[in-house]
Amino acid sequence: MSNQLGLAVKPVTEYDDAEVKRVAEWINTEEYKEKNFARQALVINPAHACQPLGAELVAHAFEGTLPFVHGSQGCASYYRSTLNRHFREPAPAVSDAMTEDGAVFGGQNNLHEGLENAIALYKPKMVAVFTSCMPEIIGDDLTAFLKNARNKGIIPADMPTPYANTPSFNGSHIHGYDAMLLSILQTLTAGKQVEGRCTGKLNLIPGFDANTGNFREYKRILEAFGIPYTILGDISDVFDSPLDGTYRPYPGGTTLDDAADSINGKATLNLGPYSAAKTFSWVKDSYSGKHASLPMPMGVTKTDDFLKKLSELFGKPVPESLKEERGRAVDAMTDAHQYIHNKKFAVYGDPDQLLGYVSFLLEMGAKPYHILCSKGTKKLEKEIQALLDTSPYGAGCKIYINKDLWHMRSLLMTDPVDAMIGDTHGKFAARDAGIPLFRFGFPIFDRVNKHRYPIIGYQGVVNMLTEICNKFLDITDETCEDRFFEMMR
Ligand code: SF4
Repeated sequence: MSNQLGLAVKPVTEYDDAEVKRVAEWINTEEYKEKNFARQALVINPAHACQPLGAELVAHAFEGTLPFVHGSQGCASYYRSTLNRHFREPAPAVSDAMTEDGAVFGGQNNLHEGLENAIALYKPKMVAVFTSCMPEIIGDDLTAFLKNARNKGIIPADMPTPYANTPSFNGSHIHGYDAMLLSILQTLTAGKQVEGRCTGKLNLIPGFDANTGNFREYKRILEAFGIPYTILGDISDVFDSPLDGTYRPYPGGTTLDDAADSINGKATLNLGPYSAAKTFSWVKDSYSGKHASLPMPMGVTKTDDFLKKLSELFGKPVPESLKEERGRAVDAMTDAHQYIHNKKFAVYGDPDQLLGYVSFLLEMGAKPYHILCSKGTKKLEKEIQALLDTSPYGAGCKIYINKDLWHMRSLLMTDPVDAMIGDTHGKFAARDAGIPLFRFGFPIFDRVNKHRYPIIGYQGVVNMLTEICNKFLDITDETCEDRFFEMMR
């Protein structure tokens, strides 16, 4: 072997082809699966990201807000590039770029200099500060650092500066999302509750959701009802802004005034029971009006529950247009069910979305056979099991909590399924298993525009089943013998 200069290069490791073949076959066996599932100290290809990434997503969701990472530059680049690759839009955020001296002496100087520069350069209306692992490990006191910054006049007196500790060695992106959203709402609503005032609006908490189409769908449904609303927080225009030749660093987002007045709302509906749990718990104790929490409205039943709850909270009947939409979705399900019926699926992702995938598949007569969450709880496991128990298609389906996508690979190779549902990280396992991967999760780097197609509501049902069933029909066309290659499927 030689390099471009013609010099001999000695491979670091010599591979024996027969050994490579033996191991490649062995990792597909039951024996290997048992060893893989006995693994404790190592995570391989987890189906989740770290806390600050979720904090950055929700920071972008508010008007004029600059996400500010107190911590390492490399970490900040990771969150930004993940959001940027998923949405194919800019994700402008800054970092105070802590390095070795910050790790030794603490990061206050970095934070103060960073805030001064960022506020002067990027002129935000709000700065949302959150942490990467390094300042969490050395124990930086964010509360004191920000208080000092305000006392020194680095942060203007009237600039809201919510902050959240987002230690990545604990929890996942959904917990960072929750912590940052909570701090944003606590900061903006402080002192804004007015006795007897009611905005007449619904506060909708969507939870961690990186599908801009879902946000537009929520708005369309609420507008059909004639319900005034504030989405806490709204990424639809931030990560799906028009290309018109003008760069806007802060396109869209929930206005700070609306967010501040949300404490006087008529009702608050949380659709992220797992990804906005702490926020909703605080809202219940602090906000005026009625409060309710429902699963993400994926599949017909959960969408029905969502619409019924809106109707109940606002005393308005479900609009005829949405009833007709439901009928069309049920028609589309009936037309397509034969192509998905009894098919086995492996599903993985965030708790709120997982519950949605399972509901949808059971409604279609499919089996969510391997269900995996790489950061989950006993409560989630029980909730998924209760859902499986509602349908004969749930029989024999298994739930794997706190397992990763390398575990999933073992499951696919030893107990095969017809397809997977999840994010791009599962494509390696899907390729090894020779099955399609339906990308409905986050992040999706290797397909375009997926985040523009809603997967919630009745339209979401139609979108999901169309994509899945047409792929199965493609496979039939691509693999059938000539004599079975038919016009009609
Ligand atoms: S896990 Fe920690 S070190 Fe890694 S990117 Fe996230 S914040 Fe940075």
